[in-house]
Amino acid sequence: MGHTAVVVGAGVAGLASAVSLARTGWQVTVLERSPEPGEVGAGLAMTPNAVAAFRGLGFEDADVAALGHPTWGSGIRDLEGRPVLALPDTPVVRRSVGLIGVHRRRLHAALHRRALACGVEIVTGTPVTTVEAGEPEGAPAVVEGREADVVVGADGVRSAVRAALFPASHPVYSGYSSWRGIAPGASGYTTLQQYWGPHAEFGTVRVADDETYWYGYVAMPGRTVIGDELAAARARFAGWASPVQQVLAATPPEAVLRHDVHHLPGGLPRYTTGRVVMVGDAAHGTLPTMGQGAATALEDGCCAGLLIGAPVAGGGRLAPALEAFDAARRPRRRALARASVASGRFGSHLGGGWRQTLRNTVVRLTPAGAITRGSRAVTGWTPPEPAPPVLGTAAR
Ligand SMILES: Cc1cc2nc3c(=O)[nH]c(=O)nc-3n(C[C@H](O)[C@H](O)[C@H](O)COP(=O)(O)OP(=O)(O)OC[C@H]3O[C@@H](n4cnc5c(N)ncnc54)[C@H](O)[C@@H]3O)c2cc1C
Repeated sequence: MGHTAVVVGAGVAGLASAVSLARTGWQVTVLERSPEPGEVGAGLAMTPNAVAAFRGLGFEDADVAALGHPTWGSGIRDLEGRPVLALPDTPVVRRSVGLIGVHRRRLHAALHRRALACGVEIVTGTPVTTVEAGEPEGAPAVVEGREADVVVGADGVRSAVRAALFPASHPVYSGYSSWRGIAPGASGYTTLQQYWGPHAEFGTVRVADDETYWYGYVAMPGRTVIGDELAAARARFAGWASPVQQVLAATPPEAVLRHDVHHLPGGLPRYTTGRVVMVGDAAHGTLPTMGQGAATALEDGCCAGLLIGAPVAGGGRLAPALEAFDAARRPRRRALARASVASGRFGSHLGGGWRQTLRNTVVRLTPAGAITRGSRAVTGWTPPEPAPPVLGTAAR
């Protein structure tokens, strides 16, 4: 019989992991707590590393083209719309900060369809509460009474798998909450627009010819209850640049979501324990200040197949494959999480007054080349080669 995996969570990380494992011949079941598979959230910007991971799951040019609107990040403005960092339209800039504006529903639907086409079983309405990690070369893992060669913990920043197996790691509230919405119609801009103000950031990107995604990320006490989210967002961003006003004015109330943003400072001490591998926000929920959460969730998913699925299907031992996954993923994700904290301090988390003026002056003096090189270090990731099997006596 082939190898089996149970994936907990049918978000981006879970579906990507399921697809990549199934592509290497594993039998995969996904357990999702929601009654219907689907993505909560409005849009996101898929940077080149996210697109590389997406292609690593077997998607072709036409699938990438169907995701959304190809564009790039042309820089950052202050809240009144004055350029702080203006990136010119050159091939180098487009390559470094290129992205696709994507409606989350489309990304999720593409992953869901691909998972089903690869033979993945998706069981909805099944919240996971119990996990036994097993031993890589001994007892199987057990999740909700199902035995598996590997369990993938992909159940988001408030992961039940993590709570069961890494009880010392807790997500914390970032102090920031984020409105997200889709406005019908194209914004006047073709590129990603980002605006920084005191303790706040607003961004817009076109996700289709007739849809613009926006987010408004602001300091707010956790669990704040707001009756009319759209009215509150309009009030919070009153006085910001006119494109911000326009996109908020065009948004219907039912298209607005708000979520308190939690993260996992430091991440997990290891991304694997027993036969369990942790991916996506469950492994390392990060601040969204670099927009890399879904991108790294796709990377993790892609690596689950290449570094665990392929070598084990080829007759290799599971323990070294799990080690290889941890060694490939944890340092990168830790570095990105640290960079996201630094980016927040300098960007959307910065206070008002002289701090804004000083920061904006420093950024205006920074050469565009330094910014695009830094960005390329993050977004230049490509999938690793499938790992060769590490042979030994314990094949599973
Ligand atoms: C404001 C904001 C903007 C962002 N913008 C970007 C961006 O532009 N680009 C980018 O790359 N990233 C962005 N991100 C980050 C990105 O949204 C997340 O990192 C990514 O969606 C995480 O995916 P995931 O699959 O790990 O977790 P999730 O999307 O949280 O999925 C977890 C899944 O597990 C299920 N689940 C939970 N608990 C259980 C359980 N006990 N049993 C079974 N199932 C369970 C959930 O229902 C869900 O389906 C942004 C985040 C925020 C907050």
